[in-house]
Amino acid sequence: MGFVYVIEHMEDDDDTPKAIPPWVELEYAHMRSLAGPEAKIHFTHLSTASSSSLSALFTPKPGLGDAQCHQDGVLQLITEQLGEAPTSLDKVCLLDPKAESALSPEDGDGRFQWFLFGVSYSGDDPPRDRTSELRVLGFPTRHLGPVQMTTDTALGVTKLVVQDKIPLDEIPYVNFPTIVFNPKESVEMPFRYIAEGSEPKLPPGMRELLHEDLNKSFDF
Ligand code: SAM
Repeated sequence: MGFVYVIEHMEDDDDTPKAIPPWVELEYAHMRSLAGPEAKIHFTHLSTASSSSLSALFTPKPGLGDAQCHQDGVLQLITEQLGEAPTSLDKVCLLDPKAESALSPEDGDGRFQWFLFGVSYSGDDPPRDRTSELRVLGFPTRHLGPVQMTTDTALGVTKLVVQDKIPLDEIPYVNFPTIVFNPKESVEMPFRYIAEGSEPKLPPGMRELLHEDLNKSFDF
């Protein structure tokens, strides 16, 4: 059986169409390819509108993880699929920058099949420890190193460690990259990414979106 990744949407999703920002949608889509075809990805705590618009996007495709969208939060999903808390919580690893232990390849050998990540859009730069809202629920935790990653990167790194058995410190990274659009326009990203050569592995479409957003911020 493949690994299961749960992405808890921690922002108030207000049930209007397009409540989820386009960059979050790109990260969510990227997670399906980073997780690989054997994986299952649950997107939890979504509004009715976001749940149905994401479900329409995330149709089954060869090579991509199977995605399911839920209005329920992570605790309801775990109770339904793994049984009552607190016993079931011990089967789920929360990826937490403040954890005492690093994630290791052995964590994928029977200790954990489920991995949980938080998504917030307010509180990433500077980091405000929004992961604490999941930590207080009592999950066992692991960190992925000292630098904050985007949530899709954190999922991709987890898959490389637990499924592909690559130790954390052997994965190539790029920290705080500057994305250059042309000689006059660039933007610095406050995250760690998986490196592809000297470039960060960004979700497809993210570079174009960042450039559009940069131009919008100069439209008065
Ligand atoms: N700024 C928020 C905070 O400080 O908690 C969110 C951080 S990050 C953008 C979103 C999620 O990715 C986190 O909730 C965590 O699950 C995962 N993550 C990112 N970097 C990590 C790291 N270095 N170690 C463990 N988990 C990490």
